[in-house]
Amino acid sequence: MSLLSSCQSLQSFTRRTALSGGLALLMLPTVKMALAASDVWPKNLVVPGGVARISLGPAAVRPTVHDGDVPVLVLGDVIEWTAVLGIPLGALPGNASLTVQAPGGSTKQVAYTITPKQYREQRLKVAPGTVDLAPNDLARFEKERAHQASVMGTFSEPLPQEPLRMQVPTPGRRSSSFGLRRVFNGQSRNPHSGMDIAAPTGTPIVAPLPGQVIDTGNYFFNGNTVWLDHGGGLLSMVCHLSAIEVKVGERLQTGDRIGAVGATGRVTGPHLHWGVMLNQAMVDPALFLAD
Ligand code: ZN
Repeated sequence: MSLLSSCQSLQSFTRRTALSGGLALLMLPTVKMALAASDVWPKNLVVPGGVARISLGPAAVRPTVHDGDVPVLVLGDVIEWTAVLGIPLGALPGNASLTVQAPGGSTKQVAYTITPKQYREQRLKVAPGTVDLAPNDLARFEKERAHQASVMGTFSEPLPQEPLRMQVPTPGRRSSSFGLRRVFNGQSRNPHSGMDIAAPTGTPIVAPLPGQVIDTGNYFFNGNTVWLDHGGGLLSMVCHLSAIEVKVGERLQTGDRIGAVGATGRVTGPHLHWGVMLNQAMVDPALFLAD
């Protein structure tokens, strides 16, 4: 049982007993402590594009965990370690496992199950000839893709500071289009891998968590983009900016200004595209927000 599920059951138990009286008073301090330990992490949603909180049990030293050869964030303490795993949008539902290495060197597989999730599909008809990139644009995109892949491979210490609940980087109407499958003239494109927030050009964008700026640039699809490294393979990106106001290497605190909303790159109007990446998987940023 994960820490989350044990907390939820404790919480609902307390709610029930609160109606009938005295025992709730005895339970309350325990519940508060348990929530303090777990409610600061992203929500557990074990679907493609989600985040799995996988219990690893107690150990004297933080275990090392890999998903294939990609390192995975491990949080907790000697009483209960938890792998906090990003699941790629392209992951197949069903059984999967992580490799857990104890400090002594012994390894074991820890199983988890990815539940299917059917994301919405959007079919668009656009003018013929606009679906495929022109040769120049394609060459630029391929070069940028290689650079972005190296940025996405960042896994740095120290691990992210808790709480891991993020601040929304800009005010505005949030779309629920994460995972949306887009089909142009019958051709599938990559699913939408972030959250769009509608806001006028110039609206400030701030850091959702403490982090270091690891990349800035102007990219074909994403326009003016900033990547932040929060530690432990947790990254965030903001795209389509009208202005970038930070430099690579700068350390930011939550709420520090990164830049301003714009419409750079391949977009139809000003908005912020906000992406969150965990162990190289783009996951739903909404899982990192408080309700
Ligand atoms: Zn977007």
